[in-house]
Amino acid sequence: MDCSPVTKLVIASGNAGKVREFQHLLAGLNLAIEAQPDGLGVEETGSTFAENARLKAVAVASATGCWALADDSGLSVHALGGAPGVHSARYASSDTDRIARLLQELEGATDRSAEFSAALAVADPSGSVRLEVEGRCAGLILPTPRGSGGFGYDPVFFVPQTGLTYAEMDKGLKSEIGHRGRAFAQLEPQLRSLLGS
Ligand code: IMP
Repeated sequence: MDCSPVTKLVIASGNAGKVREFQHLLAGLNLAIEAQPDGLGVEETGSTFAENARLKAVAVASATGCWALADDSGLSVHALGGAPGVHSARYASSDTDRIARLLQELEGATDRSAEFSAALAVADPSGSVRLEVEGRCAGLILPTPRGSGGFGYDPVFFVPQTGLTYAEMDKGLKSEIGHRGRAFAQLEPQLRSLLGS
């Protein structure tokens, strides 16, 4: 990959849902966005979202020689002691199964409160972490899925102040009030000054 001008950012994720959200969030910046090369799996050995975001940003920047933006995110459910947390992607093998397991674990629970978190890290082409932020969004886990947009746990994550699940929101609303959008709002001015745009 040719990354000599600092106008290109590789999204350090193989998750198509996340890449779509970043394309929307980054649309106002004058940057070429690329998904990470196929087959570049990074082991998420950290115990926090921030640690895993750093690992992914460094690995992808080092492998491509480009600026890389990584997101490590997940759902923490109070009644489950914070699970699935950093294990959100590994909770089951598909989005449908992940939701099914979550609803099963929460059967009969009176406290259905939860929080989505997203840690973002930006690494430069030498593999040094240059920016780090974290965003959160509080909500409730519904007993049955609602809506058809988004990805992952979106259909069961209900945000009371909107009256909607993430899967019922348009991209603009999820970007404004969602965990990834809130993290990105902190990152954007720092990214602009770093990239001189
Ligand atoms: P990782 O950050 O790649 O380890 O994966 C995070 C996992 O958390 C995803 O595979 C989804 O299951 C879930 N997740 C993260 N962000 C979202 C979101 O915005 N909506 C729904 N699920 C999400």
